[in-house]
Amino acid sequence: MSLVTKALDQSSILPEELFLKKERERARKLRSSQWWKRKRSSGICQYCKNNFLPKELTMDHIIPLARGGKSEKFNVVPCCKECNTKKNQLLPWEWEEYMASIKQ
Ligand SMILES: [Zn+2]
Repeated sequence: MSLVTKALDQSSILPEELFLKKERERARKLRSSQWWKRKRSSGICQYCKNNFLPKELTMDHIIPLARGGKSEKFNVVPCCKECNTKKNQLLPWEWEEYMASIKQ
């Protein structure tokens, strides 16, 4: 058995789980950054464009981590809990429809 196979054998963590773990950790760091605090301070939800208290806004991954999205600045936006919950519950195309319906 080669060293590489041995190393893989010893870890029961799937590459996907490892990816999620890493990206969640990066999201956590991003959330405590000045960049994020400044972005959130506008109090505007990126999706419904309503005004909220900055602390009410959550960090949303535009491309979800589960779909291979990363915790990069271009992939995270402040959004309200309602939009975040909706986005999590809806299928991507249903979310598109919802977004189209709230855009005037
Ligand atoms: Zn919203």
